[in-house]
Amino acid sequence: MTLLLEARGVTKTFTSGGGIGTARKVTVALDDASLAISANPASVIAIAGESGSGKTTLSRLVLGLISPSSGDIYYRGKPLSQMSRAERMSFRREVQAIFQDPFEVYNPFYKVDHALTTPVECFEPGMPKAKAQAMIENVLATVGLRPEETLGRYPHQLSGGQRQRVMVARALLLGPSIIVADEPVSMVDASLRATILESLLKAHVDLGASLIYITHDLTTAYQVSQSILMLYQGTMVELGNVDKVIKDPRHPYTQLLVSSIPLPDPKKRWGKGTARETLAKPPGGKNRGCKFAERCPAAMPMCWESPPPLYGLDSDRAVACFLFRDSPVLDKAEVMSLYTQR
Ligand code: SF4
Repeated sequence: MTLLLEARGVTKTFTSGGGIGTARKVTVALDDASLAISANPASVIAIAGESGSGKTTLSRLVLGLISPSSGDIYYRGKPLSQMSRAERMSFRREVQAIFQDPFEVYNPFYKVDHALTTPVECFEPGMPKAKAQAMIENVLATVGLRPEETLGRYPHQLSGGQRQRVMVARALLLGPSIIVADEPVSMVDASLRATILESLLKAHVDLGASLIYITHDLTTAYQVSQSILMLYQGTMVELGNVDKVIKDPRHPYTQLLVSSIPLPDPKKRWGKGTARETLAKPPGGKNRGCKFAERCPAAMPMCWESPPPLYGLDSDRAVACFLFRDSPVLDKAEVMSLYTQR
């Protein structure tokens, strides 16, 4: 199996303060995270967690928008940090992004056509105008937009859902190998969510594009992905086959999130997670261990002492929790292979 994109043990820290009279503060946004996406077959991976979990940091790292503090991102086996200019251009063409707020991406002074013609001019400079126009119209139709009602308009003349669908069209335009979609449906109406997710899945099936779907919403993560990575405060807490992780979550944090998924019958709950009513205090005032310990109803003395490693529960699932300390500890290669199990 060929790996397209890999994050190998990446950590990202941000530093703030340090001026006169202020202490320097280092925040670990992502701590030793690993991810792998295969080229053949194409796959869909969800990265999920609450806000502050590090999922957007991981998406920006794999897009090459920021550099890791340690570890590296590889595309087709080559570290992004060592790519030549030509390789970087190919990476930018093949790895496309869709962001949460479609309005922020547009320049209000340009018609939406600009967002679609720019990538063609940049990556296919010799393409005849008529061919480019046909390509743009075709990709707009793919995402359910009528070219005659979309082109020639300014961003503010389109609805939020239409703007986001133009962004999906833009990502699909040049036949990407990977689409990184960061909360692509969180700012559109419920009625449009299905349409946008269907467009992304269609690209996955028809174009063979892999998809990294970043979300806080486990329902859509379950609907679209084959595997999932759960992040909590920048650490990997559970990963593997999405069916197992969502239907039978094992980490107390995943159990908590799954139990909060709303169901039509309020008497029913989809999971058994609970959180502590009041946050627990670490012995000695310092937590050197599991970041979830303060909220975890199952916390044990050992949980405060050192971070739990990833334990392999099945051939296609791992959990970072001392409750599973009788299971084997996985090394990095074994963790990477979990993403590509079918
Ligand atoms: Fe809870 Fe301990 Fe597991 Fe952390 S390692 S989730 S504190 S039981």
